[in-house]
Amino acid sequence: MLFDLFVAFVVMKKLIIAIDGPSGAGKGTVARTVSQHLGYRHIDTGAMYRAVALEAVRDGLALDDERAVAELAGRAEITVDGGVVSIDGLDVTRAIRTPEADKAAASVARLPQVREVLVARQRRIGRQGGVVMEGRDIGTVVFPDADVKIYLDASAEERARRRASDPAHSGGQAGQAAVAEAIEARDKSDTTRAVSPLTVAADAVRIDTTAMPIQAVVDTIMKLVKEKLN
Ligand code: C5P
Repeated sequence: MLFDLFVAFVVMKKLIIAIDGPSGAGKGTVARTVSQHLGYRHIDTGAMYRAVALEAVRDGLALDDERAVAELAGRAEITVDGGVVSIDGLDVTRAIRTPEADKAAASVARLPQVREVLVARQRRIGRQGGVVMEGRDIGTVVFPDADVKIYLDASAEERARRRASDPAHSGGQAGQAAVAEAIEARDKSDTTRAVSPLTVAADAVRIDTTAMPIQAVVDTIMKLVKEKLN
């Protein structure tokens, strides 16, 4: 019995789980919970774009200076593990969650060379498996062969409501209408950009989380994971 368990543990495949979708769809909470259930790493790739954007602003770079921002992305040390985000040793966990950082991240995410650098890092982090990676292009570009691909969505109103009441997202007193407007602008930028626009991978399982409690979303994904592991 113990030996069987040992063998099961040793041969258990370490999956790559890709979770994509627009902001406010619930990716963060769902990816974190699934990773905790599985003992996997949780990699928030949006935080990488945010950290690069923040550092670029602090360094006085123009956000459309592709070469300079890509160079920064290439040389900076970025960590996004365990919910703490840091760049070059500086904890930016809170600083990257402001309306200005939202905009700046979406700007640098449009630059092909910046994406190239960050996608290469994401592949290095995830290639051994045992990872839940969330973003916009994980199932389409970063890991097109991911074992489980999820696309989380929710109505625009619900996404704005969640974002406006998210304590991790500072930025003041903006009401839900202003948040909805900002989300709409970012959705537009993310879905229409030339490189790796946000799209649903053909083989992704799409989950509309508008009226679903988090636990139900997690249960749905865990079921898919268990099917893969069996
Ligand atoms: O997920 P989050 O809202 O933190 O992402 C911030 C921005 O980073 C997004 O609006 C998007 O422009 C960009 N992003 C991306 N590709 C990813 C993750 C995030 O382009 N894989």
